[in-house]
Order: sequence, then structure tokens, then C-alpha cells
Amino acid sequence: MSHYLAERWVDFVRGLLSEEERAAMKRHLDEGCESCRREVNVLQVMRNFAREEAWAEPPADAVRMAQAIYVPPPRRERALRRLLGRLVFDNFAQPAMAGVRQSGASGQQMGFEAGPYYIDLRLEGEPESSRVALAGQIVSREEPGAPLGGLNVVLLAGRKVVAETVSNEFGEFSLEFSAAKNHRLRITLPQEGVQVNVPLAAHSEENPDIAL
Ligand SMILES: [Zn+2]
Repeated sequence: MSHYLAERWVDFVRGLLSEEERAAMKRHLDEGCESCRREVNVLQVMRNFAREEAWAEPPADAVRMAQAIYVPPPRRERALRRLLGRLVFDNFAQPAMAGVRQSGASGQQMGFEAGPYYIDLRLEGEPESSRVALAGQIVSREEPGAPLGGLNVVLLAGRKVVAETVSNEFGEFSLEFSAAKNHRLRITLPQEGVQVNVPLAAHSEENPDIAL
């Protein structure tokens, strides 16, 4: 028996599906799928809380109840959807920016698109050392004001974690690390079940200042 993904059930509960799709999923429930029914029940409770939250804090015991019944299946927690960042802006790759660079803006600034997210990165090499300071921000392209705080941000060299931090309430983060090749930035959004990967090395080969 094949099931529907959690994100489909979220749309189902929020009433965002076509009539045809909704009917097919309703049929799946009516056929007696226990695990999908449980998921829908939890999502409906969550939705009701979200609605009430607009004008009132949910009562503490209701929150406890929701937490008690919402036991996320471990399988899905591991199966994060991976989004690969696509370079859409690089000040070092743009000849028009050369003047700016020479006039003292020494950092490399890059912008990446990854699905519904935009990741802005600034890399500064520290003089007389191989250390690199990275400052970045992740924002939602669909909801620019949406908070993306508390996200785990990891810098990897191959499979090895080189540096790690957590985004602040504005989705901003900063890391420091030793310059090396093949660095990759990974941002995990557990609520969305998404993992954003931004490869730094491939875009930095032309960059003589910061030998990433
Ligand atoms: Zn099912």
C-alpha cells in the first residue's frame, strides 16, 4: 500500500488541493489507512491551534496534548529533501564590479537560489592568515519576512564538519574557518523537511584572494 507524503496531507488539511486530488486522498483514508489517518488527525489539531493562535494563546494543557500525540516518525525526519543552491550572483565574477572591488570592497559576495530560499553569503579573507570569515543570511523568496531563525548551519569539507552555528531570528549566521577546497554550506530546515546545500568551492576557483 502506498501512502501520501506528509506535505500532501498538510495541503489536504489546509484545503489547498484540487477537488480530484482531495477526493483521491479522502478515499485513501476511507479505505482504512491507519498511519495516514493518524497523521491527518494530528495535522487537524495543529491547524486548529494555528487558527486560534491568531487571537489567543492555546491553553497549556492543549499544547501538552498536541505534543503528546505528535510523535514524528523517525524515518521521515531523516529523509530531508535536499535542495542545491544555484549561484545567481557573484561580485567577483562580474567585470562591472571590478572597480568596486579595487576601491576597497575586498569581500566576495555571492547569492544563491535554492528552491523557495535565497542565501546571501559574504566571504572575507583575514589578512596574514588563512582564516576566512563568512557572514550569511537565508531568506524565504515566497515570504520575505518569514522568520528563519534557530536553523542549524554547518560548513562541511567533504563529510567533515568544519564549523557550525545557528541562524538568528533574521536568518543571519556567521562562521569562521581555515581556507580549504571543497567547502559546502548546509542549512537544515526541520519544519519544512528541507536541507539546503550550497557548494562554495566550485564558484571560488577564480578567486585568488580567498582560496576556498
Ligand atoms: Zn496511507
